[in-house]
Amino acid sequence: MKVLVPVKRVVDYNIKPRVAADGSGVETQGVKMSINPFDEIALEEAIRLREQKAATEVVAISIGPQAAQDTLRTAMAMGADRAILVRTDALLEPLAVAKILKVMIEREQPGLVSMGKQAIDDDMNATGQMLAAMLGWPQATFASKITIADGSAEVAREIDGGIEVLSLPLPAVITADLRLNEPRYASLPNIMKARKKPLETIEADSLSIDLTPHLKIVKVEEPAERKAGIIVETPHELVTKLKTEAKVIS
Ligand SMILES: Cc1cc2nc3c(=O)[nH]c(=O)nc-3n(C[C@H](O)[C@H](O)[C@H](O)COP(=O)(O)OP(=O)(O)OC[C@H]3O[C@@H](n4cnc5c(N)ncnc54)[C@H](O)[C@@H]3O)c2cc1C
Repeated sequence: MKVLVPVKRVVDYNIKPRVAADGSGVETQGVKMSINPFDEIALEEAIRLREQKAATEVVAISIGPQAAQDTLRTAMAMGADRAILVRTDALLEPLAVAKILKVMIEREQPGLVSMGKQAIDDDMNATGQMLAAMLGWPQATFASKITIADGSAEVAREIDGGIEVLSLPLPAVITADLRLNEPRYASLPNIMKARKKPLETIEADSLSIDLTPHLKIVKVEEPAERKAGIIVETPHELVTKLKTEAKVIS
């Protein structure tokens, strides 16, 4: 079984993001970029499935600018067998990403799409769900455990009330949550080996997909600065302040 893993190039999660001077979005110039952490988890799971012989090939795919090649090299250094870059400089919404992934899935015919539950940059939580709907495939989101056997996947997923367990026939789309696994580091020898692994580039424009945006970003701004808190000496003082100053209790 082939596993396709979509990986997005995003601002590194250790960086404090800054709003661009013109308020059009988050500043990405000169900022450290990395593989989306949830995609790293989805990729780790695909590699583990291959190691357990439940999968035969792991293909990483990214949709984005030429620089997303670095993200794909990281994915291959972790263990992906090959990679595909669908190159575009356009800012894509989840629907456009899902449309591109659908076309690439029809070409690659994977038995499983293992992807992140969210990209940490635009926080839409939508791509996996839209992709599954467009393919007409079963989906399990927020996976915290995946077991593949006899052409189906058993997925434990975190819900408010506990853990829900789903069984889905393959092919399917599964999106990874934080507790699914702990991704491995890419070793130096594997980083060197990844340079020789195949990386195919396809121009998004050549796929004849309508990528017209449906959303318009009106403005991006920093959250308002919070006022400093105060430390009270006694519970009595706290109750007095809540009554007389904050007036939230009587
Ligand atoms: C009701 C609700 C409550 C929530 N509460 C919390 C909370 O309390 N705390 C919290 O931390 N989060 C919470 N979340 C999660 C979070 O707020 C967002 O839902 C999530 O971050 C959405 O991410 P996204 O839109 O960037 O995902 P998407 O953009 O839909 O991305 C999903 C996946 O698609 C793939 N992908 C996307 N773009 C590309 C690309 N260009 N190339 C290759 N692959 C790509 C990747 O695999 C990616 O991980 C909550 C979500 C919901 C729905």
